[in-house]
Amino acid sequence: MTFKSDIEIAQEAKPQVINEIAEKLNINPEYVENYGKYKAKIDYNILSQMKDKPDAKLILVTAINPTPAGEGKTTTTVGLGDALSYIGKKTVIALREPSLGPVFGVKGGAAGGGYAQVIPMEDINLHFTGDLHAIGAANNLIAAMLDNHIYQGNELDIDVRRITWKRCLDMNDRQLRFLVNGLGGKANGVPREDGFDITVASEIMAILCLSNDLEDLKKRVEKIIIGYNRKGEPVTAGDIKAQGAVAALLKDALKPNLVQTLEHTPAFIHGGPFANIAHGCNSVMATKMAMKLGDYVVTEAGFGADLGAEKFVDIKCRLSGLKPNAVVIVATVRALKSHGGVAKADLNQENLEALKKGVPNLLKHVENVTQNYGLPAVVAINRFPTDTEAELMFIEEECKKLGVNVALSEVWGKGGAGGVKLAEEVLKLIDKGDNNFKFVYDVNLPVKEKIKAIATKIYGAEGVDFVGSSTQDIENIEKIGYGNLPICMAKTQYSLSDDPKKLGRPEGFRISIRAAKVSAGAGFIVALTGDIMTLPGLPKVPAAEKIDVDNTGKISGLF
Ligand code: ADP
Ligand code: MG
Repeated sequence: MTFKSDIEIAQEAKPQVINEIAEKLNINPEYVENYGKYKAKIDYNILSQMKDKPDAKLILVTAINPTPAGEGKTTTTVGLGDALSYIGKKTVIALREPSLGPVFGVKGGAAGGGYAQVIPMEDINLHFTGDLHAIGAANNLIAAMLDNHIYQGNELDIDVRRITWKRCLDMNDRQLRFLVNGLGGKANGVPREDGFDITVASEIMAILCLSNDLEDLKKRVEKIIIGYNRKGEPVTAGDIKAQGAVAALLKDALKPNLVQTLEHTPAFIHGGPFANIAHGCNSVMATKMAMKLGDYVVTEAGFGADLGAEKFVDIKCRLSGLKPNAVVIVATVRALKSHGGVAKADLNQENLEALKKGVPNLLKHVENVTQNYGLPAVVAINRFPTDTEAELMFIEEECKKLGVNVALSEVWGKGGAGGVKLAEEVLKLIDKGDNNFKFVYDVNLPVKEKIKAIATKIYGAEGVDFVGSSTQDIENIEKIGYGNLPICMAKTQYSLSDDPKKLGRPEGFRISIRAAKVSAGAGFIVALTGDIMTLPGLPKVPAAEKIDVDNTGKISGLF
């Protein structure tokens, strides 16, 4: 079998002009800011006009622990949105925007796949409306003001060995991870050790995604800790008076971007924070706007339900007041076989034994969503062309035996029409209203207790070991008054444990916390289980080698 590539399918689509999509949502043209024919930013001032409108039902798409086999959360999110539209529901999708790092690296684009995509996929994957560049500029303005403050006499007595703020860029470029700058003598700055992060790992990205409005964004920027003075006290972006200019640079980036799916369902694509050192969800602004404009909103959280969905609940919902109505947990035959120990090269062969071994991973995530987050859930089996009937039947039966709702999703091959069963199942859950939404922990507990709650309840760990600098880091965070923030776990996405090799549903393990840091502006405490790469590198053969553009401006090689 040969299939058309994602970009080929996307380029055959006949998109509607974006103003027609906005019209379908009854958006007053006054709020539509066009970026070409098929993209627009929607002015956030529309939100105050819609304050009294009822909110849409919110559907969260999450997944089992990711594997090299690929799961298809974005594909399922887009396809479910199209399926709901197909059966006549006024639906809006809300997704993260891609970073150039993965686009040119290993993962490729992030606009869905097959017949469940958002378009124009080339633009969405490359520059889009410039949000990431604006975020980079805002981040680097703080860095420039900080170094200038030191150069001009360092009135705040900033300890140059304890500067935590880094510069950033939107590229996988390991060369810039560690460097010494400010060289060249007295006139050219103060030499110090420094380094870059990728833009999506920056606190500015997390702030943009958690802000309720521009005023809120400014207050958050003011609180960012950029380093420490020689007494060991935090120095903030507010101390160097950066918040106003930073907010000014971000005033357009904060406006949600409107595009459409292949089937013309409206989709907001806005903000894209890392899902390890940040919370991995699209902006609060986009989700809230979508919920005022549609009757149903489908959104995605990064990685598996142990990381993305947990942060969606405990960080995004807690800080914004959002409350999901139903959760879709994506699983695939291939990924479950991978959890059952099958190597990537052998995933195309039917293997019911391995599938049986892998299914417990799925069941733990179902348990977390229904019992620990208290939300109604349905498993979506994202059908791949290589799946056999026997394998698909097996997962369905395993779920049904345990009373778990399940639906086969064929949106990758058939678009919205292939997701009708899933959509109907989701609607049934929402109508039933069996919703006991709760957070995993009380935010006022001591930091270590909050981390233990996540590790034992969600990961299934027996306990937590605080090693390295973590105890001292946590004491310091509590001392400077940030102990009552929610926790953002930085853990491998591949396992429920902190060891990427423990697949399936591991038992009898403990979690090690090695360090902790506070993102005071974003409003969470990052608990690190190991070193987290905040500036990835390119692989031996980068995806960039295959990307091209012809003389008419038509792009190829994106996937
Ligand atoms: P995630 O959001 O979980 O990272 P995506 O939805 O972005 O995953 O999908 C990753 C890749 O897998 C995409 O290239 C997509 O085309 C492909 N894919 C997703 N679902 C299917 C499927 N059912 N059959 C074949 N390929 C698929
Ligand atoms: Mg995705």
